[in-house]
Amino acid sequence: MFNLLKKVRDTLGCWFSAARGVSCEELVRLLIGYVDGTLPAEDRTRLDAHFKDCAHCLSMMRTYRQTIDLSRGVSNNSMPSEVRLRLQRFLKEKIQER
Ligand SMILES: [Zn+2]
Repeated sequence: MFNLLKKVRDTLGCWFSAARGVSCEELVRLLIGYVDGTLPAEDRTRLDAHFKDCAHCLSMMRTYRQTIDLSRGVSNNSMPSEVRLRLQRFLKEKIQER
């Protein structure tokens, strides 16, 4: 029952948000600019309003932001040398088996 009420609330939230200015579909197109900070302030305000009413898009934005933050922390230098050597050995063996 709670889930049904939540779903109705979320659906209505999306509808109200769309009526105020931005639909979920449009939000997806603008999300990259929102997360990387290049979106114009006016659009940013519209998306902020949408996030207040739409739990789905808020969750998607947070997941997207976390994914970007995590991927920024990964670089070629982050792999320990022992792991890199073992991986190289493993790959060479697999190539030679072919
Ligand atoms: Zn939405």
